Amino acid sequence: MAEQQVDWKKKYRDLSQDMESLERKSADVEKELRLLANYLSVALEGETPQLDASIKTLKMILQEPCGDNLPFLTKLCRQVEDQVHDRESSRSKQIKQTISALLKWVRRLRSQVNSNGSQNILDSLEQRSNQLDEKFFELPSVLSELIELQGHIEVGGPENHGAADKEFSLDGSAVPIGADDEEISFLLKRVGAELLELISSLHVPKTEAPAARDLVKDIESGFELTKLPEVLQNVVALVVNSNSNTSEDFENYLLELSDRLIEVQTFVEHSRQEQQESGQNQKELDQHVRREVVQLHQTVKETHDIGILKKAVSHQLSGLVRAMDEFKKKEEEREERLQGRYENLIDKVEQMEMETLKVKSHMEEERLRARTDPLTGLPNRAAYDEQIAQEFERWSRYKTNFSVVVCDLDFFKKVNDSYGHLAGDKVLRLVAKVISKNIRTTDFACRFGGEEFVVLLPSSSVKDSIEAMEKVRKKLETSPFNFHGEPVNITMSFGVTEIEEGDSVDELFARADQALYQAKENGRNRVCSL
Ligand code: GH3
Ligand code: MG
Ligand code: MG
Repeated sequence: MAEQQVDWKKKYRDLSQDMESLERKSADVEKELRLLANYLSVALEGETPQLDASIKTLKMILQEPCGDNLPFLTKLCRQVEDQVHDRESSRSKQIKQTISALLKWVRRLRSQVNSNGSQNILDSLEQRSNQLDEKFFELPSVLSELIELQGHIEVGGPENHGAADKEFSLDGSAVPIGADDEEISFLLKRVGAELLELISSLHVPKTEAPAARDLVKDIESGFELTKLPEVLQNVVALVVNSNSNTSEDFENYLLELSDRLIEVQTFVEHSRQEQQESGQNQKELDQHVRREVVQLHQTVKETHDIGILKKAVSHQLSGLVRAMDEFKKKEEEREERLQGRYENLIDKVEQMEMETLKVKSHMEEERLRARTDPLTGLPNRAAYDEQIAQEFERWSRYKTNFSVVVCDLDFFKKVNDSYGHLAGDKVLRLVAKVISKNIRTTDFACRFGGEEFVVLLPSSSVKDSIEAMEKVRKKLETSPFNFHGEPVNITMSFGVTEIEEGDSVDELFARADQALYQAKENGRNRVCSL
């Protein structure tokens, strides 16, 4: 029995010793917990209001023995855990934004500096900025260096003296050359090519030739967007002055062209406005950056506590990030608007290209019709006027001689009278064929009017031309014309002459006509010359 009592006593003593030791340990743990809560509150204070509140409650609870409030403490710990987690993810977002802002800043500085030294510094700053998510403590020193470099540029240090830097002033007065300009210059090239094409299809009268030459030169050498309306107006004026032929199609085309002109003008005006807006945005951003940089500079200089510095810098950088995001957003919207309008204009230019093609072929058809005799298919008198003017011009410049022949059917009235007008028409068609077939391809034959034809023989003397016309005369004389099986005698008389010094076009023609008169006088069916 006594042995049993001794055993219980020992057990009780051991147990109470264990209890005391446990209580001591627990008190130590609580002490450590209190200390930890204090450190936590110092480290996390001001991060988020929720965390501040939770840590304050934690500190309060830890003033009492933990055991009494264990369930509440556990809950509070979970809450702090969640809040720290949230705060960490928003912090990493902030760091990412900070890095992105710094990288943008580095990029801006890159465009403002020339020297290898500065570019090397920027290389290292770019690398260190990229590593900030792991080494955020590097932020003050990265900032200091950026601020220093920016300061150099702003006070007009050596970096500002390069020619290229002048394009990138900080006050936004000059906008760097970008993709918009490339697109506009591409557009201008297309419009220019289109206009040249159109001009080439015009029949420009002599009086308009110098204006046309100047215009072609202007377009070929390339022109600024702002000059486009003027160029287009000049083209329209040239088109109007070059075509007395005002068919409905052509008038419509001119109307379309002037619509396009208005569209292009609007585009030019909008682009100009957008450019000013972009300059203003850039200016605002620059001012903002400048202000923030001065403040950052001040903060870095005056604050020595890393925690406060961290907070201040992070606050100012958020401002910077916001300003840059705002700028980026505005620029993107601007670009989108410009792109939309540009694409619209490209569509319109494509339509214009198609219309130009249509109107060009239409004009060519019209011109050909206007120069062709419908009965024989030979060129007509209008074509003769053009051709003789060209021959005359060539002769005036290079003294390349040529001859003119006036040909007239003999007693053609009798053919009409005997066989009818339709038979006469048929004869005219056959005669035209015989003439065309029996002259050189370089010669030009036309129906001058009635039963009268004219042949122009380039690089031919009177003698050459007499020979050539003799061939035609004989061919006609021997051609088996017949009416319902009855042979019909068809002959022609020819008056030949060669261009002479001092001749005018009319004098030349009058001499050939004179020679024809002689041929008629001398018995017809012959070639005479003067
Ligand atoms: P000459 O030898 O003196 O030239 O005599 P000619 O009968 O040919 O001359 P004239 O000037 O007296 O008559 C020309 C005729 O040509 C009169 C006209 O009926 C005919 N003529 C003119 N144009 C056409 C035409 O398009 N078709 C037909 N069938 N006849 C025409
Ligand atoms: Mg006749
Ligand atoms: Mg006649």
